[in-house]
Amino acid sequence: MDQKITGIIARAQEGKAPAYEEVMELLALDEASPEATAVRGAANDLVRAKTGNACAMWGQIGIDVYPCEADCQFCSFAKSTTCFTEHVTMSVEEVVKRAKEFTKGGDLYGLWLMCMNSYDEDYFLEVVKAVRAAIPPQTMLFSNIGDTDVEYFEKLKAAGLDGAYHVKRIGEGELTKIAPERREATIAAAHEAGLQVQDCCEPIGAETPNEAIATRLFEIKQRDDDYGVYNGSGVMKRNSVPGTRYEGLQNEITDMRLALIGAIQVFVMVEQSKMPWFAIHEPNSVSLLSGGNSICAETGFNPRDTAEDTAGNHGLDVPAVRQMFYQAGFRTLVRGDGTRIELTPEYMEAKLAE
Ligand code: SF4
Repeated sequence: MDQKITGIIARAQEGKAPAYEEVMELLALDEASPEATAVRGAANDLVRAKTGNACAMWGQIGIDVYPCEADCQFCSFAKSTTCFTEHVTMSVEEVVKRAKEFTKGGDLYGLWLMCMNSYDEDYFLEVVKAVRAAIPPQTMLFSNIGDTDVEYFEKLKAAGLDGAYHVKRIGEGELTKIAPERREATIAAAHEAGLQVQDCCEPIGAETPNEAIATRLFEIKQRDDDYGVYNGSGVMKRNSVPGTRYEGLQNEITDMRLALIGAIQVFVMVEQSKMPWFAIHEPNSVSLLSGGNSICAETGFNPRDTAEDTAGNHGLDVPAVRQMFYQAGFRTLVRGDGTRIELTPEYMEAKLAE
């Protein structure tokens, strides 16, 4: 074993985060090397010890779709490459129906409602109000919408929204038509409106330079220092969506590589006071054995999928997410209000029978 790497691991185990140069060394590891295995194992132990071997389950509903003018080159809705030609918006009733379906077991930590870059503000406000009234109070409600301002976020908060997923993505302004400053302004607006802000290192592709990944990991840490953001973060791989410039498996990182990056994020965040939740997307078992403890079920439209409904195609449903956690050895599910459910064989069987 490389002594420098074992030193970085030992310090993380003592609660000391690696420096930028050390993160670059970790990112350069062969993901099948003994050093990478040790990093993943240490991150797994750190997170499970911190949370009491717990996990958190999210759901996302994509509620509208159209050829999106932001034209992000990795997205299935990008105007210049998409196979979607119509503007299709789910009725409020349909969104509520899907939200109830997602939350009927009562053990979902949080639910995202996702729109394209531009969206109808009145419609989205109505959706937030209706969904908040329909789902259990222990499930948090988050937006995943285009750039907006503090006044609109305040209205969403008053309607029952708990937080906003908003990210300055890798390649923002170069691979997308949105200036990075615009994303930052929206994140600041969400924070100013009193919403929790979720950040994530995404989208990570095979060609993404390690510098870009390391920079985002430290930006996320800085955002937590500045804002005390939502108590979790994550890493997300870029899918090779057909029709985009990234079509083909050679453009994707493997689950092993994503698991290593997720484990490195755990090290980077090890000094943060909260941060129990480390999201992994796409969900995979190796990442759940490497420090990841939060994954997402999906329905409706999905920017990483060309199917009209990602449920049953690319997206996992709630029982599949619960099962993946159970098989990865997690023994407690935590809900959005902090209450805990033991993930016992009896609980799993009861849920299957629902
Ligand atoms: S990622 Fe979002 S903003 Fe970018 S093209 Fe897709 S839907 Fe639009």
